[in-house]
Amino acid sequence: MARRRIIAGNWKMNKTPSEAIALVNELKDLVVNPDVDVVYCVPAIDIVPVVEAVKGTNVAVGAENMYFEESGAFTGEISAAMLVDAGVKYVILGHSERRDYFKEDDVLLNKKVKKAFEAGLTPILCCGESLEQRELGVTMDWIRLQIKSDLAGVTADQVKKLVIAYEPIWAIGTGKTATSDQAEEVCKGIRELIAEIYDQETADAVRIQYGGSMNAGNAAELLAKPNIDGGLIGGASLKADFGKVVNA
Ligand code: PGA
Repeated sequence: MARRRIIAGNWKMNKTPSEAIALVNELKDLVVNPDVDVVYCVPAIDIVPVVEAVKGTNVAVGAENMYFEESGAFTGEISAAMLVDAGVKYVILGHSERRDYFKEDDVLLNKKVKKAFEAGLTPILCCGESLEQRELGVTMDWIRLQIKSDLAGVTADQVKKLVIAYEPIWAIGTGKTATSDQAEEVCKGIRELIAEIYDQETADAVRIQYGGSMNAGNAAELLAKPNIDGGLIGGASLKADFGKVVNA
C-alpha cells in the first residue's frame, strides 16, 4: 500500500507572529509538491496568523502541544477543541523536549493522543532514544515501551491515521543525523510493533517520519528507505531549505 509522504516543520519556540507570516510567504512557492502532505507546526501564538497565511495553499497547520482536558482551570494550556476551531489539523505530541524539559510522561501522552483523535486532530507522536540508551543496546525496547504506552486504548482505525516521528534524541539539533540505515532499522521496528499490537493493514497504513538534523542534504537518502514516510524538521524548517526537503 502506498503511503502518502508527510513533511512537517517543527518551528519550536521560534518566530513571532509577524516573523511567522514573513516565513510562510518566503516559503510559499518552494513547498509546492502535490505528492506530499506539508505541515507547519508552529508556536500557539502563531497559529491564527499562519492558518490565515497558508489559505489557498497545500500547507496544513499543526500545533506543537495541547492539553487533554476539555476546558477549565488549567492556566496556560490549550485544548484540542481550541486548536480545531482555529483551523489546526495536526498536533505534535511527546516531543523529546516536552518529555525532558516539561516532564511529560507516557501516561499523560496517552491521554493527549486519545483526546487529539477524539477532537479530529492527527497526532504526530514522537519517540526516540538517548545516546546512552543506544549505546546500551536498548533502543528498540525503549521505543516499544513508549509507543505501547502512548497508544494504549487507541483503536486500529485511529492508528491508521496516526503519524509517528522517530527522533533519536542525540540527533536533534546536533547536526548529527542518524544514518539512513539506523533510521530505517528503527522505523521498520516501529512498523513491526504496530503490526504486532494491531494488524498488518494498520501497520501498512501508519506513517512514520524520521526527525533529527534532517535537511536538504540528507533528506533524499532518508526518504528513499521503505519504512520512512516523511520527516519532522526542526532547524531546516525555518529557512528556504525546507522547500528542498519537501521536494527531496
Ligand atoms: P532538528 O529538530 O531538525 O533541528 O534536529 C527536529 C525536531 O526536534 O523535531
